Amino acid sequence: MILRIRQFLHTFLLVELIQGLMVTGRHLFSRKVTVQYPEERTPQSPRFKGLHALRRYSNGEERCIACKLCESVCPALAITIESEEREDGSRRTTRYDIDLTKCIYCGLCEESCPVDAIVETRIQEYHGERRGDLIYTKPMLLAIGDLYEEQIAKDRAADAAYR
Ligand code: SF4
Ligand code: SF4
Repeated sequence: MILRIRQFLHTFLLVELIQGLMVTGRHLFSRKVTVQYPEERTPQSPRFKGLHALRRYSNGEERCIACKLCESVCPALAITIESEEREDGSRRTTRYDIDLTKCIYCGLCEESCPVDAIVETRIQEYHGERRGDLIYTKPMLLAIGDLYEEQIAKDRAADAAYR
């Protein structure tokens, strides 16, 4: 009986409504966290997992040694690699495609790479308009690596410092 009276008073006095309004009131004057993207941006972690890139060494040689670890570890089967031996006996990829429509941005490819060749950059603003636009080929991935190498190197160093 007492419980029912309490429930009635609770409903009659609009206790839950008042509690909700108190929460609204508390946040009305607190610091706003909404940003006006894209003019304003929130900070990004050096570990941000965005668009992929293939890196080169400072002498221009591509890092990837076609070991295919990234291809075998990829849970989404998004990476396709073909390779052949060069005249100097080293092995390099002849094809390195990432299908970004399959990719789940887990970062396992970059974690598995023994030579820091495949990395995920901070780039998040990219799109495709036609079928196949989001299949990134080796020349495209190398071009991204060339363009953003400075930032990639800084992020890799910061990431290593966390570990
Ligand atoms: S981020 Fe994950 S899903 Fe995407 S290509 Fe790399 S391993 Fe595959
Ligand atoms: S990107 Fe790295 S893990 Fe993938 S094939 Fe090249 S060297 Fe191996």
